[in-house]
Amino acid sequence: MEQLKENLSKIFDNYFEEFKEANEYIYNNPELGNKEFKACKTLTDILKKHGFETHDNFSNIPTAFIGKYKNGNGGPKVAILAEYDALPGIGHGCGHNLFGVTSVATGILLKEVMGDVAGEILVIGTPAEETCGAKVEMANAGVFNDIDIAMAVHPTGEAHVRSGESQAMEAIQFTFKGKTAHAAGAPHEGINALDGVLMLFNSINALRQQTLETARIHGIISNGGKAANIIPDLAVANFYVRAQTLSYLKELVERVKNCARGAALATGTTLEMENYETSFANLVTNKKLSETYEKNLKLQGVVKIIDKEGFGSTDMGDVSHCCPTIHPSFPLTTKHLTGHSVEFACATIQPEAYKGAKEAAVAMALTAMDIFTNSELLKEIKEEFKNSSK
Ligand SMILES: [Zn+2]
Ligand SMILES: [Zn+2]
Repeated sequence: MEQLKENLSKIFDNYFEEFKEANEYIYNNPELGNKEFKACKTLTDILKKHGFETHDNFSNIPTAFIGKYKNGNGGPKVAILAEYDALPGIGHGCGHNLFGVTSVATGILLKEVMGDVAGEILVIGTPAEETCGAKVEMANAGVFNDIDIAMAVHPTGEAHVRSGESQAMEAIQFTFKGKTAHAAGAPHEGINALDGVLMLFNSINALRQQTLETARIHGIISNGGKAANIIPDLAVANFYVRAQTLSYLKELVERVKNCARGAALATGTTLEMENYETSFANLVTNKKLSETYEKNLKLQGVVKIIDKEGFGSTDMGDVSHCCPTIHPSFPLTTKHLTGHSVEFACATIQPEAYKGAKEAAVAMALTAMDIFTNSELLKEIKEEFKNSSK
């Protein structure tokens, strides 16, 4: 393992200029979700150059790609997922430029050290993490069903962050419809759609007392009527409902919908409910796989690995419901950084950012080698996956 680590480290250094150039190019050409054509081409070009069979428009998503390399017969399938979409206004404020390059680098490192070990490497480019989350569509299409393990490592601030949990999330839009009337002259002839929305908020506020502490229900009124002297015939509220597990989310969503149904009944309005954005499943970290990755970080002298703070949702959650998954983070610097900021974007092209990226790439490659060569370990990982609550 020591020798393998040394080899991987040397290979990373040999190709460093190439990785750096790709990272800076994607940084300087930020593209929003599902429009990442330049990033997709940059990353597939490197994979192709290094002997991967590549396809863009993967899973019928124009800016998704897959890079495949198969060694020998049979052997496990390891997927390394890449993200490369940017944010409006602040470019790569989530660091997906270096995320994408690190994943591609991992594939290349791994290919070079595989020797005669049997197995398949899949580097999968997954667009639009910040918006509609292509991984959800891919998961629904069955892309991850026959994969043995999936890994993706996100950039962060001061230290390596252990793969943790994220919340399952559903985005629901409530549309209440009523009837206009003069609000002073003939209010009794109107049906107040805004009252439907207000009662929905009040019912949800009451519901909060009876939910698990980790649940989150938050919303806005996106349409509350046109003028104070007209009874609104249309009012719309947009909500996010989040929970630690998919099963609790389903239960909670039903209770929130009942709040809306009650509000419609009480106000005499009609109600429509729909999902206005992609829903995400919660992230289930495979602990055995996570331990293996951390062992491989420590092998490189990494001592500080911290737990994830706070809540949020990611489309990696949906992957983790299909196959054993980890989604840790690597540090761009030794200082604290706020995600989705200009400072975060700047940090991704500083020399010190590549230290963490290299540690992540080498640790992922070592982990994949563990999977390829240790069938007992893979069996344990799969056993845990089968028995984990989702
Ligand atoms: Zn982000
Ligand atoms: Zn991100």
